[in-house]
Amino acid sequence: MTRPATAAALDEDYHVHSVFSDGASTLAENVQAAAERGLRTLCLVDHVRSGTCWVADFVRAVRPLRARDGIRILTGVEAKILDRAGRLDLPGDLDGIDLVLIADHQFPGDGGPVDPQVMRAALAAGEVSPHDVIGCLVTATANAVRTAAAQSAARQAVPQAAAPRAVPQLAAPAAAPAQSTARPLIAHLFSVLPKMGLDESQVPDWMLGRLADQARLAGALLEVNEKWGCPSARTVQAFSGVGVAVVASTDSHDCANVGRYARVRQILADAADAGGASRAGAGPGAGSAGPGSARAWTPP
Ligand SMILES: [Zn+2]
Ligand SMILES: [Zn+2]
Repeated sequence: MTRPATAAALDEDYHVHSVFSDGASTLAENVQAAAERGLRTLCLVDHVRSGTCWVADFVRAVRPLRARDGIRILTGVEAKILDRAGRLDLPGDLDGIDLVLIADHQFPGDGGPVDPQVMRAALAAGEVSPHDVIGCLVTATANAVRTAAAQSAARQAVPQAAAPRAVPQLAAPAAAPAQSTARPLIAHLFSVLPKMGLDESQVPDWMLGRLADQARLAGALLEVNEKWGCPSARTVQAFSGVGVAVVASTDSHDCANVGRYARVRQILADAADAGGASRAGAGPGAGSAGPGSARAWTPP
């Protein structure tokens, strides 16, 4: 019996915060908690902005913790999507960072981030439509994923040739951060929708499909987030169905919560049920493409 296509491993945690940003626990306390709970993978993540200057210190502090046996330690930074063009609130130097977590902390409008409460009021007043708001969010997320991946590819190409090999499909924004080799991870996708009075079920299938395709092309990971209880099983299924690796995250801000899943477990079970049903209806071999599971991925 093969693993269901949507089965992210629950002995991993891809999103754990520390005192480097707004977490209550130290890096070492998070690693200790992960080890005690038998986790196989832990990604230490903290919030950054374009002006953040501690990334090198963070990478240096994680280095000795990586040596621990039996647990793969990754580094990540979490940055919000700024606007529809997909600019990210990222600092320039990301050396030593494995993952860039792309987060919808605010609504990414045409002119920059907008407080979700402002969007809620605009929606209630009929100044904007749910369809347009959702379309803008999905476009911004797809552009952010593409931008992050293009920057990573460009960085890897630097030693080989002066001419850039990777041509971003978007015009490079003026405030674009420096290139990195970090892989994109879409964090708590659609968590901003309820803050605006919208629901994930309002995202049309075709939009979800395009975003999933973009994530696959960019080699992005999709997390299922315990703190926010999102994205939904339907979204997980759409992404894993095209081969995007799905991973589990707590978004813990205290080591007591590292690797502890309830909502994620349910979402993944629902997605696996839906995937099993669709594969059964699609005939033999239909599920063979499966997702690139987190197990198949090794960091650069
Ligand atoms: Zn977040
Ligand atoms: Zn977070």
